[in-house]
Amino acid sequence: MKSSPEITAVILCAGQGSRANLGYNKMLASVDGVTVAAKTVRKFLRFDKVVIVCSPDDEEFLRCAVLGDNVDFVIGGNTRTQSVRNALASVSSTDIIVIHDGARPFVTAEIIDKSIESAVKNGSGIAAIKSTNAIKTVADGKIITINRENVFTVQTPQSFRFDEIKAAYDKISGDYADDSEVYELAGFSTTLTEGSPDNVKLTTARDFYGLNDAYRVGIGYDVHKLIHGRRLILCGKELPFEKGLLGHSDADVAVHAVMDALLSAGGLPDIGVLFPDTDKRFEGADSMELLKDVMRRLNNYEIVNVSVCIIAQKPKLQPHIAEMRHILASVLKTDDDRINVSATTAEGLGIVGEGQGMAAISQVLIKTK
Ligand code: MG
Repeated sequence: MKSSPEITAVILCAGQGSRANLGYNKMLASVDGVTVAAKTVRKFLRFDKVVIVCSPDDEEFLRCAVLGDNVDFVIGGNTRTQSVRNALASVSSTDIIVIHDGARPFVTAEIIDKSIESAVKNGSGIAAIKSTNAIKTVADGKIITINRENVFTVQTPQSFRFDEIKAAYDKISGDYADDSEVYELAGFSTTLTEGSPDNVKLTTARDFYGLNDAYRVGIGYDVHKLIHGRRLILCGKELPFEKGLLGHSDADVAVHAVMDALLSAGGLPDIGVLFPDTDKRFEGADSMELLKDVMRRLNNYEIVNVSVCIIAQKPKLQPHIAEMRHILASVLKTDDDRINVSATTAEGLGIVGEGQGMAAISQVLIKTK
């Protein structure tokens, strides 16, 4: 081993996180203004290389959300074991592999360093903590209490000498709960290192609440062309007008600006990434449904207020504003008086003033639940 070993981190983000019941991968949820995945990966960017294992559906989103010159993406498998296999196959050479759950963003540098130091010295370093709960087991219908002094709950990071963990995965087939089990089954012995009760794995929707106490502001802007033969929909309301807005979805320019403002506040990639106009699924999409999707991604935030200003030469929007506020408030799960919709003309100037299009600008303030 060289005096300064080459270290590759593997961050597992391919799970669906179905127990969090968010309707999307929990790694993409916003915590403290960044995605869970980005918050976790930041802790490992100091190493030579970081491999993020993700599902194909989430790859583009993660490429926008997680920044780093030394970051590579690998498509995961159907199981954790297969995902790690894919990651190991993508690494041609390194000295130490540190494998970590993407859903453990609170890991500290100290925990990571202890795990790696042990791997350099002993072959492996598995973060673990003593059980704080009493432990019982059942054998032949009989309950037996186990001395919890000898019981450890295993976490990640789990670090290994690369050649050994690679050999272990080559030797063992099947699916396992973690990497240390594969390593042990291949005949290597594991060494436990100090984890922390704070190094939690975000698992259920409840785990995301109260993680921080933050207000976040965001801004969004959109513009769409006005043409004959399209419906005009603004803030989810269809308005009587001779023209409508052209777009891949229903082209609700006001809701698009609100969605981008919300995503911006949450530190998430914009609607162009989430709902690309190259994707057939979003052809003719109801923008209010897309707004619901955005709100699910901001699961652990609530609305403080939302302002949207629509810039249109015609028609007169004032008579519809109360209803627009109400429609938006119901989807944003807040009161009408926290939503403000204003309208202005462009004084006959430019593309909006000449009636060729409409624009909208939005600013939002959200706070953590
Ligand atoms: Mg748009």
